[in-house]
Parts: sequence; C-alpha cells; structure tokens
Amino acid sequence: MPALHPDIDRILIAEDQIQKRVAEIAAEIDRDYQEVDQVVLIGILKGAFIFTADLSRKMTVPHSVDFMAISSYGDLASSDGAVRLILDLRKPITNQHVIVVEDIVDTGHTMNYLYQTLMGRSPASLKTCTLFKKKRDSLDVPLDYIGFELPDVWVVGYGLDYADKHRTLPYVAALKKEVYS
Ligand code: 5GP
Repeated sequence: MPALHPDIDRILIAEDQIQKRVAEIAAEIDRDYQEVDQVVLIGILKGAFIFTADLSRKMTVPHSVDFMAISSYGDLASSDGAVRLILDLRKPITNQHVIVVEDIVDTGHTMNYLYQTLMGRSPASLKTCTLFKKKRDSLDVPLDYIGFELPDVWVVGYGLDYADKHRTLPYVAALKKEVYS
C-alpha cells in the first residue's frame, strides 16, 4: 500500500466500506421511491460530486441529476454559519420528488439552508441524504439517509477537500490537526 500523504493522520473509512454503504443507500432509496415516476437528485458541489455520481449509478429508480454550489469555509476548518448560493439549479423543482445529496453535515447550517431554500420552491417531496455526519451537536435538520458518523475531525477524500487538495483519494481520512488548526 502506498505511503499516506504527510498531511494525513489516518484512514477512517476504506474504499470498499464506502462503496458498500453507497450501494446500501441506493437500495434504500430505490425501495422508498418504488411508486414514484421520477426523482431529482441534487448534488451539492463541490464536495458531493463523487458521492452523487456513485449513488446515481447505483440507483435503479428513474432519476435526473442536477447540482447546486454553496459557499464553503474556504481553507478554514471553522464555520460562522453564513451560507451563500453560488450556483443554482438548471430547472425548477416544483412538484418534483427531490433528494438533496450532501457530502458531510457538521454544524447543520448548510443542510438547513438547503432544506429551507428547496422547500420554498414547492417540491412534491424533499428528502436529505448525507454520506457523513459528524458526531457532535448540530442544528435540528431532518436527515433521511446517513452513510456514516464520523468523529469531530477534518476529513478529506472521496470528494472532500482541504484547500482543494485530497479530493480524489478513494478513502476518507482524518487530516493531522496541525494542518488545519
Ligand atoms: P455545516 O454547515 O454542516 O457546518 O458544514 C457542512 C459543509 O462544511 C460541508 O458541506 C463541507 O463542505 C464542509 N465540511 C464540514 N466538515 C468538513 C470536513 O471534515 N471536511 C471537509 N472537507 N469539509 C467539511
């Protein structure tokens, strides 16, 4: 196995565990939406682009994929709760069955913003899906599909970055504390 990048402390979730869990979530969504003609998956850029692509390819229920981009923390591993929409959907979601797909929920501010914003557009239904959720107090946002709970450390890989690095790692790893604090 190749040596870990010097910024990385340890691998938290291996590639095969991620792929297995993504398949389980896709199967759960397929079951929940059996009766529905069409679902809209909304991937949140940039962090959820890999998860959205893998989830979409594993789902069998008919669906389209769209994306939104939200302001991130920049290079800082901290949040003041301010969330900004940077790129909006191509099409309206009125009367559509929507699933918003996030990479990770930490304080919950981003998911809360997304939930309120999308609910305001009168979808037929709205569910939330996140691959990772940090084990800490977060806002009370409904999370319908959760992949894994993670400790309160900065993680990278499988789409998640630090200063735009490490996104393409196939596993999820904790950064060394001294890199981000
Ligand atoms: P929240 O608004 O829930 O505090 O944070 C959610 C957003 O912050 C995520 O969509 C992600 O962009 C970013 N984020 C939170 N924790 C981490 C982390 O450990 N690693 C990375 N790469 N991004 C994170």
